[in-house]
Amino acid sequence: MQTIISAAKIFHDEFILEKIIFYAILLYMRNKFLPFSRPSISEDDIAAVGDVLRSGWITTGTKTSEFEQKFCEYAGCRGAVALMSATAGMHLLLHALDIGPGDEVITPSMTWVSTVNLIVLAGAMPVFADIDRDTLMVSADSVRECITDRTRLIIPVHFAGAAADMDPLCELAAEENIFLAEDAAHALGTEYKGEKIGRKGTAIFSFHPIKNITTGEGGMFCSDDPKLLERIRRLKFHGLGADSYDRDTQGRSPQAEVLEPGYKYNMTDIAAVLGLKQLERLDKFNRRRTELALHYRKQLSGIAEILPLSDPPYHIKHSRHLFIVRLDIEKAGMTRETFMKELKQRNIGTGIHFLAAHVQKYYRETPGIKAGTLPYTEWNSERICSLPLFPEMTERDADDVAEAIRDVLKGKP
Ligand SMILES: *Cc1c(COP(=O)(O)O)cnc(C)c1O
Repeated sequence: MQTIISAAKIFHDEFILEKIIFYAILLYMRNKFLPFSRPSISEDDIAAVGDVLRSGWITTGTKTSEFEQKFCEYAGCRGAVALMSATAGMHLLLHALDIGPGDEVITPSMTWVSTVNLIVLAGAMPVFADIDRDTLMVSADSVRECITDRTRLIIPVHFAGAAADMDPLCELAAEENIFLAEDAAHALGTEYKGEKIGRKGTAIFSFHPIKNITTGEGGMFCSDDPKLLERIRRLKFHGLGADSYDRDTQGRSPQAEVLEPGYKYNMTDIAAVLGLKQLERLDKFNRRRTELALHYRKQLSGIAEILPLSDPPYHIKHSRHLFIVRLDIEKAGMTRETFMKELKQRNIGTGIHFLAAHVQKYYRETPGIKAGTLPYTEWNSERICSLPLFPEMTERDADDVAEAIRDVLKGKP
């Protein structure tokens, strides 16, 4: 690109210069924007949603129960409750555990802010555990340092589609008698030591459109604790004692009454049927994501300024939810923000997963929240960048991303 521009300058002719630059752009730059994520929606998905819309029952009903059941079969979990979002699941969990003023919840600051917001809204205090520099996940050691006699809950995040090291984390939680709930928003199809995430313990999944399967918006609360499941099922719909849908009358059970005040976080059948259809293709999506991620690894391996995440040292099956790289800002001589802006100008979309919670305005300025520093969290928060990754992308698209990255870094001062 640079060579062609300098060649064009020799002509001292604006018209020719313009033409040459135009063709150079056509040659070197993709002319269609590549988003960093896009859901895979088939005609079959659309038809299934259409059928529900025409059926006369569009809110929580048989499709939602079927989705819960199929999800349990897939992940091997004892029970699952379909919700409006993963955030709703986290909210219900905090409520069910009666977490409030005086309580502390351990979570990474490198997470989606919904978790931290909910902890604060419940009147409790988030306590941030630092993460591994290259997997972005908390460890039993980093969590142990944060435990006090006020700690009520630990929320590790399975990051980017890999699994956190659950054995030592569960051991620690059991030893200290603290509840542990996995943020499994990135972990649809992920396995830890041969077992699907969700099979044991309590895990919350998300079906937001960027996740590995989608229901538009949605979440799944999974647990092996039947009492907790029953409580979540009740709390998700006004605290009613029975599920609202009655198969026989095709309507609301008339005898349902409030057992405790609850929320309204139930999934609709419109969303659930999309989830059912998507779940059938989850393994296929994840295989495609894996191919693309490995292709990226190869294409990016020669670029010194780009540091991909590492896979954890223990045995996992990765669902490749995100392809995250870290920009070596010292070597690159530019900020991550400039890097992302330059990529956007080359029609490449990127994302940040995530900006650490404790560096954001509210949490920065709220006294008592930031205890000490989180070196690896902060280091990554300034450098991470998610590259485009979704099943319908091609290897050619990934090549364009690598090419655009090279071009951006070549232009460095
Ligand atoms: C997406 C996400 C959530 C929230 O999921 P929603 O369904 O949007 O509420 C929570 N945690 C992490 C790590 C996420 O990526």
